[in-house]
Amino acid sequence: MALERTFSIIKPDGVQKNLIGEVIRRFESAGLKIVAARMVQLTQAQAEGFYAVHRERPFFKDLVKYMISGPVVVQVLEGENAVAKNRELMGATDPKKADKGTIRADLASSIEENVVHGSDSAENARNEIAYFFATSDVLARTR
Ligand code: GDP
Repeated sequence: MALERTFSIIKPDGVQKNLIGEVIRRFESAGLKIVAARMVQLTQAQAEGFYAVHRERPFFKDLVKYMISGPVVVQVLEGENAVAKNRELMGATDPKKADKGTIRADLASSIEENVVHGSDSAENARNEIAYFFATSDVLARTR
């Protein structure tokens, strides 16, 4: 098993509903360590850049509007198979289709307002971490 890092966002609905602690508790209970974290109000340009792969999708405008509707928590998680583990903890994009016990099934209200973002590959994780964090912001070694 590989020690990996992945990128996570507690989205505006998660912050608004006071779910920061609950989401982080789930990460830590599953063995993922928080090795960097910051609260940030995304600008429109930052949100558009982050979700650039979705710019042709019909929901892109709404997604950007939602992502800048309030502060978010950006984090780097570290652990064995962190990318897949985080995706498993999050559950499917649509909370109605997410497995019971996942963050989205338990806490999310819609396919758009779904509490968390998590990188879907190791390569995207590296790019997304670099989008928000300087190397010096991330703990060098935790175990
Ligand atoms: P994720 O990797 O599970 O977050 O899903 P995607 O990368 O496919 O989509 C990015 C984000 O766009 C999702 O987390 C949702 O917030 C939003 N989103 C995805 N699909 C839809 C949709 O069909 N409608 C709306 N309104 N938002 C969507």
